[in-house]
Amino acid sequence: MNSVVTPGSELQTGSAPHAIVIGSGFGGLAAAIRLSVRGYRVTVLEKLDAPGGRAYVFRQDGFTFDAGPTIITAPFLLDELWTLCGRKFSDDVDLRAMKPFFRLRFDDGDTFDYTGDPEQMRAEIRRIAPEDLDGYERFLKASATAYRLGYEQMGDMPFTKITDMLKVIPEMLKMQGLRSLHSLVRAHVKSPKLQTVLSFHPLLIGGNPYSVTAVYALISHLEQKHGVHSAMGGTGALVDAMVSLMQSQGAVLRCNSEVDEILVENGKAQGVRLVSGEVLHADVVVSNADAAWTYRHLIKSEHRKHWTDRKIERSSFSSGLFVWYFGTDKRYEDVPQHSVLLGPRYKGLLDDIFKKQHLAEDFSLYLHRPTELDPSLAPEGCDTFYVLAPVPHLESGTDWEAHAEPFRLAIQKRLEETVLPGFSEHIKTSLVMTPLDFQSRLLAFRGCAFSFEPKLTQSAWFRPHNVSEDVKGLYLVGAGTHPGAGIPGVITSAKVLDQVIPHAHSYA
Ligand SMILES: Cc1cc2nc3c(=O)[nH]c(=O)nc-3n(C[C@H](O)[C@H](O)[C@H](O)COP(=O)(O)OP(=O)(O)OC[C@H]3O[C@@H](n4cnc5c(N)ncnc54)[C@H](O)[C@@H]3O)c2cc1C
Repeated sequence: MNSVVTPGSELQTGSAPHAIVIGSGFGGLAAAIRLSVRGYRVTVLEKLDAPGGRAYVFRQDGFTFDAGPTIITAPFLLDELWTLCGRKFSDDVDLRAMKPFFRLRFDDGDTFDYTGDPEQMRAEIRRIAPEDLDGYERFLKASATAYRLGYEQMGDMPFTKITDMLKVIPEMLKMQGLRSLHSLVRAHVKSPKLQTVLSFHPLLIGGNPYSVTAVYALISHLEQKHGVHSAMGGTGALVDAMVSLMQSQGAVLRCNSEVDEILVENGKAQGVRLVSGEVLHADVVVSNADAAWTYRHLIKSEHRKHWTDRKIERSSFSSGLFVWYFGTDKRYEDVPQHSVLLGPRYKGLLDDIFKKQHLAEDFSLYLHRPTELDPSLAPEGCDTFYVLAPVPHLESGTDWEAHAEPFRLAIQKRLEETVLPGFSEHIKTSLVMTPLDFQSRLLAFRGCAFSFEPKLTQSAWFRPHNVSEDVKGLYLVGAGTHPGAGIPGVITSAKVLDQVIPHAHSYA
């Protein structure tokens, strides 16, 4: 072990093998926890001034904004991390079940409360399209099958060999998993409104319902089985708790430490060089930085036979997001914590975003009001909000410097006309993030919000592997690797890492 390594806490012994984790997103933090438990001396290097990645927390004028994830599903994955460390998750984080999970508002003003209560769900379906009730029940069964295959069987299975992929193909064919999610939904329910209600979920992790496979129906079952939650104190409270858990295992977090290059010698990762010029040696390097960015910008091309520049450039990437964070000097008690405000078009808009790479004039929005659950995230009597719109990534050529303000104003107008009449006069603070910010702050390839697009030809074995195909001793966790984006996905990627990385004792 080289002496330039920054020393860890007293819990980490100097003789333990050193693991560097690049990035402190949920995937990186979960990886650091698991590696520490396995006996590695862990250093997490984070470019930004605080951890969390997409879940970074902005504070402005007394308002607290979770930059990204707000919906927490699969809480058992968090329980599992805490149990690994001999602790109890609920002692550190106060998760609350959401009722409803979401309120969807259609363009005609009709709404649908999406809940975990089967009777309430049936009542909502009956109200919108009674003839689709049987089809809905059949969709629920298909969703449970998708969960067993896509989550229980494939989720934490390392797809490092083509044979791993071949093993699951027969099951996928049996459940008609090669068709798109939207086509599966359409086969069961006829109402366009219900087709949207049952197919929009992949958008929350960057997938187009018309191109993700029907396996993504698993999300509906996951939500019904394990609920939809939010954290008291915001998602930032979960980031803080994971950092504390990691530190309790001896891992070290270094913020303001951007990695410029993963150093490779004889085909093996030797450590990293920071932008500052500092070199840190390591026995293993785990990248939680964007997978495309990791290969394209952090590893010299001479070390990449598989993830060549050309292969990366020709891959397809998820949507970008336009996010407007704002605080009001008034509370809007009628607005639930999670709302989806649908625009006039569904497929047409998705084609514009994912296929044509065109910034449309209409949009569908997700509106987040965390102060419904936790008023402490805003000054007294005030509300914290963010509203996001999926937009094309930067390959669209959208000039966000010019478009950001007109786009924000269009969203403001839409909110005025729908769920927040008169709110413009009550805005006390405001902050906008466009795909340009995703690129410059988070080093997200093409400014994407969710890395490689989750479609069949870029999933499981086809996605960048958790064990690098190009560099020995390099591993990947996070949204761009298997199984994919979303908090459950990236935390599961660290679980896969645990299965494929050598035990620290093997270095003795
Ligand atoms: C607005 C928004 C809302 C979302 N809502 C939800 C939701 O409600 N529920 C849900 O489950 N998911 C949601 N997601 C998706 C989810 O947030 C992400 O998929 C997940 O958090 C990504 O985690 P990650 O481990 O890939 O790391 P990231 O969060 O991408 O973090 C990677 C980290 O690596 C750092 N980094 C990058 N390059 C370097 C470098 N060279 N050197 C050092 N550090 C580097 C970055 O600064 C960053 O901190 C949302 C995403 C967004 C953007």
